[in-house]
Amino acid sequence: MSRNEPLIEIDSARLNKRIQDIAAIGSTLNGGSNRQALTDEDAEARNLFMSWCENSACEVRVDSMGNIFARRSGSNPNADPILIGSHLDTQPTGGRFDGVYGVLAGLEVIDSLNDSGIQTQAPVEVVVWTNEEGCRFDTPSMGSSVWAGLLSETDAHAQKDSQGHSVISELERIGFLGKIDAQPFSFQAAFELHIEQGPVLEQQNTLIGVVVGTQQMSRHRLKIFGQEAHAGTTPMSLRRDPIRAFSVMLPKFYSVADEHGPQSRITFGQINCYPGAVNTVPGELEVKIDLRDPRPDVHDAIAKDLCEIVELCCSEAGLAFTFEKYWEKPSVDFDAKCIQSVQNAATRCGYSSMEIISGALHDACNLSLQGPTSMIFIPCKDGLSHNEAEYADPDHVAAGGNVLLHAVLEHAL
Ligand SMILES: [Zn+2]
Repeated sequence: MSRNEPLIEIDSARLNKRIQDIAAIGSTLNGGSNRQALTDEDAEARNLFMSWCENSACEVRVDSMGNIFARRSGSNPNADPILIGSHLDTQPTGGRFDGVYGVLAGLEVIDSLNDSGIQTQAPVEVVVWTNEEGCRFDTPSMGSSVWAGLLSETDAHAQKDSQGHSVISELERIGFLGKIDAQPFSFQAAFELHIEQGPVLEQQNTLIGVVVGTQQMSRHRLKIFGQEAHAGTTPMSLRRDPIRAFSVMLPKFYSVADEHGPQSRITFGQINCYPGAVNTVPGELEVKIDLRDPRPDVHDAIAKDLCEIVELCCSEAGLAFTFEKYWEKPSVDFDAKCIQSVQNAATRCGYSSMEIISGALHDACNLSLQGPTSMIFIPCKDGLSHNEAEYADPDHVAAGGNVLLHAVLEHAL
């Protein structure tokens, strides 16, 4: 295609209508969606998606994790496919765009190629990854983790929800326990289009986020041990109070993160004290700390500083403690060529764009371990996601679809 030919574009009305059609399945009172993994609602959305794929002359396969692959074949039988995908499951009070958008924009790319009569040499394949959200079954990005070899299928199948239903029994019940093995195959490039789920693009008034990678993340568990005591009879000076020790640490923790600039993120989202009675000085405090930074060396330096602060403050207070890292995910650098394709596509379409780092994990992180991968973000209103009020402007939705289409074409033609 020469630069002088008119740009082909996706059908914005069709894409936005399909997003609303899927959102209607499991719709919630406040305008969001509740389609948790492997529920009846998830099955209904999957079946609607598959019927659209079949109308678009795709060959559809389902693997043993329920991951769905819908392929539009290419002219070269030996060419590896271009993968485009995301997920259809949601949080219990999820929005209309998280995941769904990336899947339906993938299908829209195929439909646009069909409408324009464009024959690519490489196959183009839309993927729906199972249980990205990890809320009903507590392993985020489960389908793509098994596919990429990061999680054993036996372990994934055995996981149970809070009612005792296992992944394998629910896959079977909803008719998505496929016969082909969930294992990687080679691909030329993979792209995941997603709403940003944060406020940066909106604040910068920029349409396209060219995602260059993800942050390094770790989770830590701090326990401080004091002594339970009567709230009325024990003088302040004689207490062994873990909350008081923590209150000295907290401003130091925030300062360490702030010192390293806005890319460092520290969160204390779970704080529990025991026995949890209003008139008892707690004998034990447990805090879970989430630490993120895209720069691995800075992440590790902050983690080390946290350790030193804990040691210092507990020793000053004369209290015992334990401090352990219980989960870690290394940062991901997306593929330079895929990043460039997204940048080229945004430029060709005339959209404003900026490089951005994903603050959240996505299936694309798992794919990037198996082949060249990158992501595209569009803004979402007020940066809200995992929220029934999640919203993306239909014109922005279309713009992301056009960037996806042209990034795919750069590899598939
Ligand atoms: Zn998502």
